[in-house]
This record gives sequence, structure tokens and C-alpha cells, in this order.
Amino acid sequence: MAIDPRLSPIAALQHIADSLERIDDANERNRAYIELQRQILVANREWSGLLDEIREMKDRIKAFDTWDTESKRYRLIRLNPGFFVRELIPEAANGEPAHFLCEDCFNKRERGMMHSETSMYAEHLKCGRCKAEHTLSSGRRPNAGIADGTDYDPFEKYR
Ligand SMILES: [Zn+2]
Repeated sequence: MAIDPRLSPIAALQHIADSLERIDDANERNRAYIELQRQILVANREWSGLLDEIREMKDRIKAFDTWDTESKRYRLIRLNPGFFVRELIPEAANGEPAHFLCEDCFNKRERGMMHSETSMYAEHLKCGRCKAEHTLSSGRRPNAGIADGTDYDPFEKYR
């Protein structure tokens, strides 16, 4: 029995099932039955693939929704000598300490935490995700004051 390859697996199943009762020859009916089983396997495989795609799309939509909520907690700021980072808005901190996110990662909907590093001559902010690094134009340490809980704004000088 020739099955039109343009038919969907479900339509092919229906076509074979409709034709089974009209087949008088036992051999031909057996071949049609085997084809029916093969088409059922194809339909199951495609159905399973579609379920996987639906699951993946739901996860992506959820991740987008989560990111939209998360991204609203940050604002774009410029640090000296002239690079941009995302700063956690204090009112949206929810108990998290002040920190910056990497702007490049942020634009890719990723959370790249900026870590400060001190070299002998300068302070650097380095993305923990993409490893982008920026040198601050002041010698003040960005994280000084955070650990001791004072009101001191360690990033003020870099704004
Ligand atoms: Zn990054």
C-alpha cells in the first residue's frame, strides 16, 4: 500500500485504517497492517517530539518571565572612566547586598555578577560569567564598607 508521504502520520493512520476493511487479499491486508503499525510508531515518535518542544517552549517562556521580573530590579549606570553596568536598585534589593551585573551579559538575559579585584595600582570589576573586565579610574576599593554594614557608598566615587 503506497502512502502519500505528504500526509501527516495521523492522516496516514486514518488512510490505512479506512482501507483495511476493503482489502480482500490476506497478504495485502497483512502488509497494510504492518504499515499501520509502522505509522503508529512514526506518529508516536512525532507526538513525543512535539511534547518535548512544548515543554521546552514553556520553559523558555517561564525563563523570559522570570528574567523580566529580575531585570526590573536593576538600573543602568555609568562608572568611571566610562563603562556601563547594571546596579541593583536598593529599594528592590530584597536583602541582597549591593552589587553590579555585567551589561553585556544582562543584554543576553544572563546574570553576570561583577566581582571586584584589587591590583597594586587599580581596582577592577570582572564579570564572573563572561570574564569581561573593567578598570575603575579611582584607587578606592569598590567593596569597602559593604561588609561592615555602614552607610558608606563604596561606588559613589565611580559614578
Ligand atoms: Zn559578563
